[in-house]
Amino acid sequence: MRVAVLGAGVVGVTTAWYLRAAGHQVTLFERQPGVALETSFANGAQVSAGHAEPWAQPGLWRKLLRWLPREDAPILFRLRADPAQWRWGLAFLRECGRTRFLDNLRQILALGTYSRARLRELRAATGIGYDELDLGIVNLYEDPADFQRAVEVCRLVRELGYERRPISLDEALEHEPALAHRRARLAGATWTPPDESGDAHRFCLALAAQCTLAGVEFRLDAAVTGLNVAAGRLSGVAWRDADGVSRQASFDACVVAMGSYSSRLLRPLGISIPVYPAKGYSATLELRDAARGPRASVTDESSKMVMTRLGQRLRIAGTAEFNGYELTLNPARCQALVRRGAELFPGAADYTQASFWTGLRPATPSNRPLIGATRIEGLWLNTGHGTLGWTEACGSAHALSELLCGRHPDLAFRFLTAP
Ligand SMILES: Cc1cc2nc3c(=O)[nH]c(=O)nc-3n(C[C@H](O)[C@H](O)[C@H](O)COP(=O)(O)OP(=O)(O)OC[C@H]3O[C@@H](n4cnc5c(N)ncnc54)[C@H](O)[C@@H]3O)c2cc1C
Repeated sequence: MRVAVLGAGVVGVTTAWYLRAAGHQVTLFERQPGVALETSFANGAQVSAGHAEPWAQPGLWRKLLRWLPREDAPILFRLRADPAQWRWGLAFLRECGRTRFLDNLRQILALGTYSRARLRELRAATGIGYDELDLGIVNLYEDPADFQRAVEVCRLVRELGYERRPISLDEALEHEPALAHRRARLAGATWTPPDESGDAHRFCLALAAQCTLAGVEFRLDAAVTGLNVAAGRLSGVAWRDADGVSRQASFDACVVAMGSYSSRLLRPLGISIPVYPAKGYSATLELRDAARGPRASVTDESSKMVMTRLGQRLRIAGTAEFNGYELTLNPARCQALVRRGAELFPGAADYTQASFWTGLRPATPSNRPLIGATRIEGLWLNTGHGTLGWTEACGSAHALSELLCGRHPDLAFRFLTAP
């Protein structure tokens, strides 16, 4: 089959890879001049299947209200005159009930576990490197109530077959010795040995090179402008080249993997998907004294930030702001990252020399991505990965390729049938 994959973030590049491996003729469209230059560029770098609890959880609204007036709040809704934002917000509140929370957690964990296995196979098969570290992830809690909730999540995650457990502070500091000076402030820690970390952008560059060798056609600087549909069936893709020329080509199938922009492309076709941008920030710094930085990756639950070692670099990422598609760097939110980095890992880097970045997580209210078929024959979705797109990319892409080939992937996840 001739398949177009739209969007060359981590989800699109992996989708192209697995579809090509399944024998399809694949063309990857990307509006940027290279791969993974938008949300997959400088994320938190965690491949964290064990961090399966969705944002929407019981009691979150209390925190949201507390955070509302703070410019540097971990999660911030800036209410706009935007019906899509309001619809998304209401759907998000519905997902906060305990039953939905547990159902979402189970599915997210199943997809993350499946994805971790696919990532490892892919790494072994291709030998690609991306500053990866297979050393587990420590989560830190300063609030005893948050820690108690995490103990419950660990139990659920373990019951579902993935290893994540509460650990003593001594053990946490064995894994991350540079945090010894924070000991008195910590209420608890959890440890997820199978979780990993690595640079998603470097991963995409390396995998894109393998895709080219395998015969995937790349159309960069190509902004997709629409999808052609005839008699309920996808017939082709229309795009604009860098020189401004409009073009189109026929395809047998098309996978939309355009992250937060997927909803905009689908709307004219009458397909409404609950994907809304959740803006996040990161700071990347050269490590000056690596021994004072993270050994692998740490999630600081009180600030909702992650701090990850990437070779000789330190990546600090986090915060979520629901404010449409705008991408300006807010100085208060940038400073919140480096301030917290300097508190946890003082002296590890020169915190005045950070490269700041912002990206739009393609968030769904449930944190579950949308993977599978639409009601238009030949039109498929692989989008809405929110906080876990790097973690879930290989699994989502492999599963999508299986579905497109008429097979059902072997995991307990509800795939789309026809939105
Ligand atoms: C601050 C932050 C920290 C994060 N930390 C983590 C983490 O630690 N672990 C984790 O698993 N996930 C993390 N994430 C989430 C993860 O980065 C995203 O879920 C993931 O990058 C989404 O990938 P994607 O390919 O769906 O979207 P994108 O990377 O945004 O890719 C979509 C692509 O589509 C292209 N595109 C859009 N419109 C068009 C068009 N009209 N024509 C052609 N191309 C188009 C874009 O240019 C883009 O390249 C984080 C995100 C943020 C913002």
